[in-house]
Amino acid sequence: MNFKHSLRELDPAFSETSKPEPFSQPELLLWNQGLAEELGLTDKLLNHEQERCAFFSGQKSAVNSSSYSFVYAGHQFGQFSGRLGDGRAHMLGEWTAKNGQLVDVQLKGSGRTPFSRAGDGLCALAPALREYLMGEAMHALGVPTTRSLSVVATGDDVMREGLVPGAVVSRVAQSHLRVGTFQWFAATEQHEALAKLCAYTLKRHYPSYILSEEALEKDHAKFPEQILKLLDAVIDKQIELVCHWQRVGFIHGVMNTDNCSIAGETIDFGPCAMLGSYHPEAVYSSIDRNGRYAFGQQPSMMNWNLARLAESLLPLLHKDVEQALALCRPLIESVPDRFDQAYYHMLAKKFGLSSFIKSTPNKTPTQSQRSLINDMLKHMQINELDYTLSFRQLKRYLEGKLSEPEIATLKQYFSGDSDKQNSLECWLNEVSADKNTAISLMAVSNPELIPRNYFVEHALDAAVKNDDLSLIKDYMLAWSEPYKERKDSFKLLGSKAEFDTNYRTFCGT
Ligand code: AMP
Ligand code: MG
Repeated sequence: MNFKHSLRELDPAFSETSKPEPFSQPELLLWNQGLAEELGLTDKLLNHEQERCAFFSGQKSAVNSSSYSFVYAGHQFGQFSGRLGDGRAHMLGEWTAKNGQLVDVQLKGSGRTPFSRAGDGLCALAPALREYLMGEAMHALGVPTTRSLSVVATGDDVMREGLVPGAVVSRVAQSHLRVGTFQWFAATEQHEALAKLCAYTLKRHYPSYILSEEALEKDHAKFPEQILKLLDAVIDKQIELVCHWQRVGFIHGVMNTDNCSIAGETIDFGPCAMLGSYHPEAVYSSIDRNGRYAFGQQPSMMNWNLARLAESLLPLLHKDVEQALALCRPLIESVPDRFDQAYYHMLAKKFGLSSFIKSTPNKTPTQSQRSLINDMLKHMQINELDYTLSFRQLKRYLEGKLSEPEIATLKQYFSGDSDKQNSLECWLNEVSADKNTAISLMAVSNPELIPRNYFVEHALDAAVKNDDLSLIKDYMLAWSEPYKERKDSFKLLGSKAEFDTNYRTFCGT
């Protein structure tokens, strides 16, 4: 296989050579044929299961490459942790997909690296499967995300809460550059490398934000302006990403700056969960005791992470820190408003409020539409309604598919206090002008099937405790078409609210 190593070759400071560990009995559990085809991984090698297994557990290297691990730093739960880096990941290289896009292919759980610190460099089977499962489900939901090509059981146990089976998951990403990568080079004052990293990022991920070839040079007069364009690009991409998370009810759980991809993909599915009943304070992660990364906190945490990125770019903006701050402050201060616009735009589509798309010049919902959106969400929260199913039910109401008792229940849920207006009626008035557009907007904005916590856990349990991968395969098939209408009786549709009540997720390291 012909891997490239453009980031590694750019500067030795970005990575360290590292080799996967030998494992006693690797066995290929999952193989993502669809992704392999998209990537054009049609090498003869990969037609043989044994070869895939050897390759994607790190037991056999690609002909022309040696593997390596990337350095990065990060703020974890608000505290700067200094150097972290890939403590259990081996980068195989960059691959040019069929569509011309360059992607990173990395193994995770393949053994110790120069960045492992006290860790064992390994990954337990359940989190490896979760990463594969969630990546694919999020991709099908239309959310930017890293994906997985394979999960290989290593045949060796790893020590976690007891001995559990180990696995290697392969990760395909637009790149593995994180906010934490920039933080590392800023914190260690490696400004030449930082400047190279910025130019590289612009070329690889944000070419349309490049002012000119010369502006990418550190000593060029336009370089600071070019750096601000990079920040602007990352802001746009993060807003897009977090809007998608809020749309489908995804709770990342550990939005540390080292888990914040510069390319704007969902990355690191450790303690993630899906929102069941709508509540902004919903949090499932056992390590997130203060709800820092609760569902409704994700936009502010995104903003916080972007401010950390801006901080690391300061030395490239101006040698005087006050002047550098003055240059990037307007961008960081613009984030809440920019997010707010994108967020209400997204929600207006979820509620099928089509008129704003046509009527207002800047394509944002009017003040009264925003109030309506907020009222509807408040009803969902007060009545502990399932986020996903509520939107689908509203759509079915518009389509005339609800029975009389179902309509009565909906009215009960979405009617306000007696002296207030009935939100459901207001909503109906708003969408009735162009029902068809409303229905089609709702159909593409609101998934019917999401990888609910209950089903994910049951599938992982069956795989780990009984060596039974059939649930994972069945569910993945269903989750690959999340917007398709299902019959009410379909077994994956239930809200499983009682399961979510006591659900706790773990970091999975
Ligand atoms: P995470 O919480 O998975 O995003 O990881 C945070 C940091 O800890 C990263 O630098 C990881 O590479 C490192 N890490 C996590 N688990 C392990 C492990 N089992 N062995 C070594 N390093 C790890
Ligand atoms: Mg991480």
